[in-house]
Amino acid sequence: MRHTLSIRTRLAAWYTGVLIAIVCSLGAMLYAAVRRTAIADADAVLRSRLADMAPFINGRLHGRHAAELAHEFETHLSGLAPGGTLLQVSDPQGRWIYQSASIRSYEISATAPGEAGAVTLATVRHGGAVLRVISSSIRADGHVYAVQLAISLTGQFQMLDRLRDTALWLLPIAAALSWLGGYWLCGRALAPVDEMVTTAGSISASRLDLRVNAPRTGDELQRLGDTLNAMIERLDRGVRRITDFTANAAHELRTPVGILRTTAELALHERATDEDRKAALANVEAEAVNLTAILDSLMALARSDAGEHEGLSADVDLNTLAETAVRRISPLARTRQIDLTWNVPEVPVMVRGSRGALLGLVTILLDNAVKYTPAGGQVKVSLETRIDDVLLQVDDTGIGIAPDDLPHIFERFYRADRTGAAEGGGSGLGLALARSIADAHNARLDVHSTPGAGSTFQLRMAARRNQSDSVRS
Ligand code: ADP
Repeated sequence: MRHTLSIRTRLAAWYTGVLIAIVCSLGAMLYAAVRRTAIADADAVLRSRLADMAPFINGRLHGRHAAELAHEFETHLSGLAPGGTLLQVSDPQGRWIYQSASIRSYEISATAPGEAGAVTLATVRHGGAVLRVISSSIRADGHVYAVQLAISLTGQFQMLDRLRDTALWLLPIAAALSWLGGYWLCGRALAPVDEMVTTAGSISASRLDLRVNAPRTGDELQRLGDTLNAMIERLDRGVRRITDFTANAAHELRTPVGILRTTAELALHERATDEDRKAALANVEAEAVNLTAILDSLMALARSDAGEHEGLSADVDLNTLAETAVRRISPLARTRQIDLTWNVPEVPVMVRGSRGALLGLVTILLDNAVKYTPAGGQVKVSLETRIDDVLLQVDDTGIGIAPDDLPHIFERFYRADRTGAAEGGGSGLGLALARSIADAHNARLDVHSTPGAGSTFQLRMAARRNQSDSVRS
């Protein structure tokens, strides 16, 4: 099994790594810069000293023997600037013309004299000493002599080396401290996540009222907490909806089942006559029809909740669909003496969706309109195409809906006070199913109603583009 390090360990390791890399590169740059500056300063001093000494040396070299020259240099150079004694002069054969006592111990080899005036600079190490040496050539009496002047950098280099060694010693300690610091910091930074995990872990279906503590920091942690809380909120709403739905469904089924039971008990009673039993059976049949309707609605809602509308992107002609719905409801309308009319364009009105689901929706609206309109009233279906959408409208001159009920009629199992309503009111699931179908089609289902005057249900759907123009003609 592959083990990955914890995020805290990895963050601390990254933190330490980056810190060490920065400290090391800064240290290296600083070390190199100080070293370069020390050498550059020494070079400048050497150059100026050489420039000062060149005329003097040149003057001494003319017409003198080597032995005399040594004496000359010894006598005159001791008065030169400090360090000036680090001087050696050699002839073209590499023999020493002069070597100051102080430079001798460094054993700096003589350079072959080059072009007169040419200058080279070099860093020479001898034992623990570091010297910066400038070499130049001086022409006198037809000979070219090599002159070497040196300056000691031992002090600066030793200080630099001591600094470097101390830094190298301190580095592991700094790394360990920064790792510990990083580990502690990451722990602190991740503490809210830990807390969220603990809270989220204790959330179950029965404790969906709990929320994680999202720090108000405006960062990823807050977004994580807010997202988790929004998710729990949705879950909470979903679970509550399912619980309510189940409780309502059970309650709804209790009445018909209770009626079935008492009817059956009456029919089975020893003193029940044949007529009683016949009437009981008729009752049972009516209740069974009622039960089937409720179960059909429940199943349709459950399917709709699960997004199971078959072929939501089929081409549907709302015109023929409305006509089919009207034909379905006509017998009921006739029985209730309601004038059912429809006013639709003569061309197809195309939308995208599920034909079965949309037919169900329009039938629910028409069924309600007929159910809640007293005899002699009117129900009108109209269809109209507009620039972007299609409007299907069901108007009735029925009992209307009280303003207090209006916001609730699309809720499951909600039934407005049906005083005065025509008999045969349903289970309160019709409009909930209608809205669920509308939502699945990205359509809007609205209602306007005036109690005692009638209601208007409007379904707005996006028109199928290429068809809508021809339909508007
Ligand atoms: P139901 O099965 O009771 O008709 P619905 O969900 O279809 O359930 O409707 C919910 C409630 O909205 C109804 O009980 C009724 O009070 C009210 N309602 C629906 N349509 C109309 C209408 N056209 N006129 C008056 N009231 C209506």
